[in-house]
Amino acid sequence: MKLLVTFSRGKGRKPVIAQVVKDTGVLINVERANIDSSEGEALIDVPDDQCRLVRDSMTSLGADVRILDHGVTFNESECVDCGACISVCPREVFSFDPDWKLRLDEEKCILCGKCIDACPHRALTLPL
Ligand code: SF4
Ligand code: SF4
Repeated sequence: MKLLVTFSRGKGRKPVIAQVVKDTGVLINVERANIDSSEGEALIDVPDDQCRLVRDSMTSLGADVRILDHGVTFNESECVDCGACISVCPREVFSFDPDWKLRLDEEKCILCGKCIDACPHRALTLPL
């Protein structure tokens, strides 16, 4: 299960993710992170049965946490199977089936948003 975590890095700069790993014993896979001197946002992946434990632990440390149920959303009726999304996706979420129709492996998506801008038919959206 993927969680989108946002946190302030104000006074003290608590290492939120490291602290939660230590407190819960849950191994957290950081899919992507954007952190500057004042705040941070990270997309993390944790086992489904431990996501609420991780969320609650992070929330107690002052972070905002959203559980993301799915990756990029695909509107098949708008897709023209041009393949533009295939070339920009860093996680190989997209591929063509034997009939050259687009297919998705949504589990791999890290919600980076690159495919959204690349799609000429607005067939892709982020679940935000
Ligand atoms: S949001 Fe990023 S990772 Fe997800 S399908 Fe689009 S390009 Fe790939
Ligand atoms: S870029 Fe858009 S229209 Fe082209 S294959 Fe991907 S989803 Fe379909």
